[in-house]
Amino acid sequence: MDSQAIVGPPTGTARTVLRFARHHRAKQEAEVAAFVQELFSLGIRCGYDPFMIAAQSAVETGLAGVGGGWLSRAWEKHLNPGGIGITHDDALSPTWANGADAARAMLVHHVAYLGSLPAALAPYVGLDPRYHKVAQAGLAGSVRVWGDYGNGRWAVDPGYTAAIANRARAIRAFETVTDPNEEDPVMTPPIIDRFLEGKCYPNRRWGDVQGRPAYIVVHCQEGFNAGSYERFLTDDASATVMIGLDGGIWRVVREQDAAWANGDVRQASQKARDGILRLGPFPHPDPNLWSLSIEAEGFHNGQHPQVQLDAIIWQVKTWMRRYNIPARNILRHSDINGDRDRDHGRWFCPGDAVYVPVIAAAEEVAVRPNRAGYVNPTAPPSYDGNDKRLNGVLFHAAKGEVRAAVDGLNCREWARRNAFMTRPPLVAGEAFDVLYWIEGEKVEGEARWWVTASGSRIWSGGTDRRPAGLRFTPGITVPVLAGRP
Ligand SMILES: [Zn+2]
Repeated sequence: MDSQAIVGPPTGTARTVLRFARHHRAKQEAEVAAFVQELFSLGIRCGYDPFMIAAQSAVETGLAGVGGGWLSRAWEKHLNPGGIGITHDDALSPTWANGADAARAMLVHHVAYLGSLPAALAPYVGLDPRYHKVAQAGLAGSVRVWGDYGNGRWAVDPGYTAAIANRARAIRAFETVTDPNEEDPVMTPPIIDRFLEGKCYPNRRWGDVQGRPAYIVVHCQEGFNAGSYERFLTDDASATVMIGLDGGIWRVVREQDAAWANGDVRQASQKARDGILRLGPFPHPDPNLWSLSIEAEGFHNGQHPQVQLDAIIWQVKTWMRRYNIPARNILRHSDINGDRDRDHGRWFCPGDAVYVPVIAAAEEVAVRPNRAGYVNPTAPPSYDGNDKRLNGVLFHAAKGEVRAAVDGLNCREWARRNAFMTRPPLVAGEAFDVLYWIEGEKVEGEARWWVTASGSRIWSGGTDRRPAGLRFTPGITVPVLAGRP
């Protein structure tokens, strides 16, 4: 441990850290999740081992005699992840706004000692009040391995490194996966919405046939996001998402619509002929109706950085769980077009460098059986009585029991009428537990949708109560509501 470098690949997972934190009843659970998410996402981008930094943070925020992590007063009241700026025992801690900022400050504080500033951290230097003081003390560049800390660098305790190694061991005890379907809540890569208009089959419809996502098709762009996106604007081509070499996910076609990536069927593999091509429509099956597609930035015979592969794996696992797609339904583009024709053949797409690690990770996911035609709801933010913001949506805390006021009330994946259903509709009087309400598509003057405990979105206009807080704008027709107000 003493000679272990701070710069290096992750030696453990974010999920393990969160299990450890939960087991020890960490304070500010949502901020711990945000801290771990940003620590791993940004730490990996900068080339630091975020797992060991998480162990260090646990030492700094644990309690003497108890261990654990994220339990101290400095964490609970100030979100101080690493004793930063606490130079003597009774000094007041600086305060960070949220867990993500705390993670950025933790990484910047490492940079202060490591001495070279990665570009991704440059915007966050101001979050570490000690950054310039470390340099003034002549300590910039004084640290390379974990054994260099302690003895006045970051901490005075000469046993500091050993304490971090012990805590890392304690965290690793939570590595065993007991539930293979446990969501990975922390590796959400940056998601950038760049939806194209008109480059899809709306609502996955082609004539009388309505498809649903049952397959994932992996492609490699043979180019870069910017150029491929330009091509989508002019050609009849698109993909559900484009995943960059930097790990960012561009959402290009909405999941309920069918992108145009897999329609050119040539020399299809046995796997495709036994599967996706049996779904029709006949006589010319169109795999687009039944698939979600990923266009990985880069070249089939080129390098694909881990941060990109992690993002592709995150996207694949998320879709597998959401749509109950088993690993055997994750196809290479070449399964659909295995032609070796120079102009139209895609026998090389996407290449082993992308496909092999993705399929290996996908095979770890056990898909929950579900009724055909319904998607798994998307889990809402963890509930602690506060409003939450997730991917730009404000979740208003509103825990309680609500009943359907009408027969046939739909439970949907997102708060809009054309979103997929998550289960058969409710009948009048049927009760469900809600955690939040959010603003969604306005229907008959009502834009508020409930978010149930399992994550379904239900239009509040069809229920026996309305959420508080947002003004109700009467539309042309207001449904007559039964039951309690
Ligand atoms: Zn392709």
